[in-house]
Amino acid sequence: MNSGIKQKNGKKNIRLIIKPSNSGRNKKPVPFWGNILTTLLIFLTLLSLYTLLSEGFIEKEKIPISQLARDIEAKQVTSIVVEGDMLSVTYITDEEKEVKKEEGTALSETLTNYGVSSEQLKDISISVESDTGFAFWFLTLAPILFPIALLFLFIWFMGRQVRGAGMQAFSFGQSKARLISPDDKRQRVMFKDVAGAKEAKEELAEIVDFLKNPKKFFDIGAQIPRGIILMGAPGTGKTLLARAVAGEAGVAFFSISGSEFVEMFVGVGASRVRDLFKIAKHTAPAIVFIDEIDAVGRVRGTGVGGGNDEREQTLNQILVEMDGFEQNEKVIVIAATNRPDVLDPALLRPGRFDRRVTIDLPDRKDREDILKIHSGKKPLAEDVNLSIVAERTPGFSGADLQSLMNEAAILAARENRKKVAQFDLVRSIEKVMLGPERRSHVLNQKEKEITAYHEAGHAVVASVLPYADPVHKISIISRGNAAGYTLKLPFEDKRFQSKKEFLDDIAVSLGGYVAERMIFGDLTTGSSNDLQVSSALARDMVTKYGMSDTIGPIALENQGGRSIFGKGIDVKEYSEEVGARIDKEIEQIMNEALKKAEDILNKHRVILDVVAKELIVIETIEREDFEKLLIANGITPKKKEEPKS
Ligand code: ADP
Ligand code: ZN
Ligand code: MG
Repeated sequence: MNSGIKQKNGKKNIRLIIKPSNSGRNKKPVPFWGNILTTLLIFLTLLSLYTLLSEGFIEKEKIPISQLARDIEAKQVTSIVVEGDMLSVTYITDEEKEVKKEEGTALSETLTNYGVSSEQLKDISISVESDTGFAFWFLTLAPILFPIALLFLFIWFMGRQVRGAGMQAFSFGQSKARLISPDDKRQRVMFKDVAGAKEAKEELAEIVDFLKNPKKFFDIGAQIPRGIILMGAPGTGKTLLARAVAGEAGVAFFSISGSEFVEMFVGVGASRVRDLFKIAKHTAPAIVFIDEIDAVGRVRGTGVGGGNDEREQTLNQILVEMDGFEQNEKVIVIAATNRPDVLDPALLRPGRFDRRVTIDLPDRKDREDILKIHSGKKPLAEDVNLSIVAERTPGFSGADLQSLMNEAAILAARENRKKVAQFDLVRSIEKVMLGPERRSHVLNQKEKEITAYHEAGHAVVASVLPYADPVHKISIISRGNAAGYTLKLPFEDKRFQSKKEFLDDIAVSLGGYVAERMIFGDLTTGSSNDLQVSSALARDMVTKYGMSDTIGPIALENQGGRSIFGKGIDVKEYSEEVGARIDKEIEQIMNEALKKAEDILNKHRVILDVVAKELIVIETIEREDFEKLLIANGITPKKKEEPKS
């Protein structure tokens, strides 16, 4: 609605599974201790390996020199190698033994002393090896050096771990940007890979033209835009489009996310910006893409707590860099955000991000095209009709559709089919919308009854109220964190919603709550999500859309600037007295909706029972069957032609 960003059209009422006691969050294991453990393990392994090896060197049997003398007399010895004081003796049997001789005396002398005659020594080859050989030194020094080396390795390794754990002391300031080079054919994205977004592509085609033939523009003295802001809901293809501009123009693409500028140390953000622009200018022509610019570019000076210094410096640096572009600089900055409303006006001044391109959620035709693009390599069965899938997915973003396609392929592969069938696609719609089915989460009989009446309550109210979207499916099978759900889809994509639609939506949301209270005389936690969503909607009606008669056409809250940390301290833009009136107005909207839902369910109690009982038995009711139940009980289902406001 705001700033051209549409809300999701596909609506659902989900009944949450909430265990009030379930407050303990899983704690992640602290990585630091894990690292120490790994290091110790490696250390111990190396140590034992070393011991094993060094023992391997002294495997030979040791004999006394008197034994050697006797063996020589018995003509058992063929050769002796002298290494310092050690003798390696080789026997006729090829056995090798070690003998230690007295220090400082010659071998022949020693042997003579033991009564070996020089005659007997003649047949034995005696060689002397110098003590200074590499092997000697290695063996001598290894026992000292090896542990020291290990110790250094250990210290170095620990140092790395600690740094990894948060103190990136050595990568200060270096821009963290990722680069996609124009020569990288595999990662290159072209306009044809982006479905829909026609206006955005037209706007950006101009930028491509400039990057390709800058001279044409310079010659005529044209001012080239320096910054473009892409605005659109998450997953609408902002990143994709920015990459496509680089791809079409064949220039380098630097990308960094706003949140990456701001890290632990103050001042890092600004120096990262400087580095990034330096590299980009060096590589020009180039595109610098700043994703989630709202992370640094929020309205300045809403200063509560003063903790946003870092962000401010980073933002200032971005502005300085952009102002400092030479007239003929071929660097263009593209930024993306899904919160254009919170951006600092300084960013949007001429010469900075003065071009704004809005990317809407895809309409029916675009959704079909996106599905086509992503069905690319996936073989589709003959029965697949992407147009029907597109029709059933209002409010889906490009990213949702991509994930839908992927889920469908996974389903087909799981069931060992070679092609993706229509059935797979249809099942994936709900999976993407609500999370996977959890058939294992079995409700007991009582829970099942409550859930069935709750969902039937939503469905019946939705079917009676003229401005509510028609019911597409009702289910009491758990999905994601919902115990049951009622899926409603509009007949066509809607750009705007009216007050009447909002009021009916709130009544539908309360249908579950009313049904539970009516049938069981009690309430469960399952309605909490419904209540939250409907109260928030009522508040928006009063404070944002000017839909309250008593308060009138004033937007009392703009989404941004309310609080610098997203949530937290609200900076109210109205007085206490107005605040009280707002609350009263919200209360009235809620109470009227409650009354509406009650009247409907009282009047149509029979059909409520029928739907709930059916749900308990078959768990899921599809649209056709639901409409049959309605007709059988005198309610005319909504038709596409029916006039809507
Ligand atoms: P955003 O940056 O707006 O959050 P992304 O550009 O990251 O969205 O889109 C996420 C993914 O969704 C893309 O990688 C692409 O596969 C798919 N996608 C989104 N929009 C489109 C589109 N118009 N055409 C084709 N694919 C799209
Ligand atoms: Zn509900
Ligand atoms: Mg993105």
